[in-house]
Amino acid sequence: MTEQRRPLISGNWKMNLNHFEAIKLVQELSYAVSRDDVDAVDISLHVPFTDVRTVQTVLEADKIPFFLGAQHCHFEASGAFTGEISPTMLAKLNVAYVLVGHSERRQLFGEDDEMCNAKIKAIIAAEMKPILCVGETLEERDAGEAETIVTSQIEACLQGVKAETLEGFVIAYEPIWAIGTGKTATAADAQDMCAHVRRVFAKLYNTELADSLRVQYGGSVKPANAAELLTQPDIDGALVGGASLDAAHFAKIIQYRLAE
Ligand code: PEP
Repeated sequence: MTEQRRPLISGNWKMNLNHFEAIKLVQELSYAVSRDDVDAVDISLHVPFTDVRTVQTVLEADKIPFFLGAQHCHFEASGAFTGEISPTMLAKLNVAYVLVGHSERRQLFGEDDEMCNAKIKAIIAAEMKPILCVGETLEERDAGEAETIVTSQIEACLQGVKAETLEGFVIAYEPIWAIGTGKTATAADAQDMCAHVRRVFAKLYNTELADSLRVQYGGSVKPANAAELLTQPDIDGALVGGASLDAAHFAKIIQYRLAE
């Protein structure tokens, strides 16, 4: 890993925790992580929309150095899109990172690469950072298509996105068969795929930009497997679902360096 790539460990709460529960978890987590941890690792919390304002207030009032994250947004700034939230609304609440193309959104809500592409452009225009999620199904992996699928997702989602807007961009490689299943890719397979993500990005842009790209691994990351995954040369952090709902577990993942 090069000097400039700080690991980014992101907690995806999915549709869990009301705003009271959110306060409790953020506070527990802030007690469980140390100054050394936040000096070494960036931490983002991707909370449900109803928790965003509450968590923003807690982070700012208590000066907790975690980044506020969202799980989704629309690509338009405003308009007749009942039920949707715009990038500018999130930016106004100091949201720093927004997930784009999470497999649950792709599979359950019909989010496709074209929508991801529009969202990435809108999130960048609103001065936040997208975290683009890519990954293959088990059938695609078994058919030897994992690299092809991930390549086409990255190419389509970044269509027309200018290099100068992509400094420090984040892509989360999440094999779909490993999300919420307890099955994790081996560290070697995760490293191979994350290296592949970086190569695809380098081919689309250039090696300098690819060197600053942060590639997260996601899929049943837990305290027990975090160190092995996160010390791979092309893995620059983790996108964590289930384990991010438990302050002690998530803190242990953030502290993966101590387990080395
Ligand atoms: C996720 O939500 O992106 C995820 C990887 O979930 P889990 O860690 O529960 O597999």
